[in-house]
Amino acid sequence: MRNKSCPQCNEVGSEVDHIAVDSIVKAEVNDDGYLVCLNEDCKVVYFNELNSYDISDLTVQVYFKSASDEECPICYCSDLTRKEIKEAVAKGYETIGQIREYTGKKSTGNCKTKNPLGKCCHKIFQNEINKYKNSKKSK
Ligand SMILES: [Zn+2]
Repeated sequence: MRNKSCPQCNEVGSEVDHIAVDSIVKAEVNDDGYLVCLNEDCKVVYFNELNSYDISDLTVQVYFKSASDEECPICYCSDLTRKEIKEAVAKGYETIGQIREYTGKKSTGNCKTKNPLGKCCHKIFQNEINKYKNSKKSK
């Protein structure tokens, strides 16, 4: 693929596994490779030289396009939201394992098809925990 910039905002996109695009976009997608635009202010999510799909074309809410929405899922395979992580951290649960235990939302191993980036939510999950831990400390 020659052009790696988002057709909307011109930011350089990241590689994304086709299996995620295929399962998250409502329409049938062709077999070409797609990139993902991580710019929060841009509505385009997946694109290549021929097509682009924006947030309204998807079956899930995209966490990196809605950083301030607490109802947005962070772990897509167990439907665990940002708000649930925030509440668990406020109660003193500070690891992914503890939070999964507390919420009863266990990983189902479907990250590759359900997470908009097509990869495990582990790192994002940890980032969210750190964010709420830090905001707790600064109070
Ligand atoms: Zn963009």
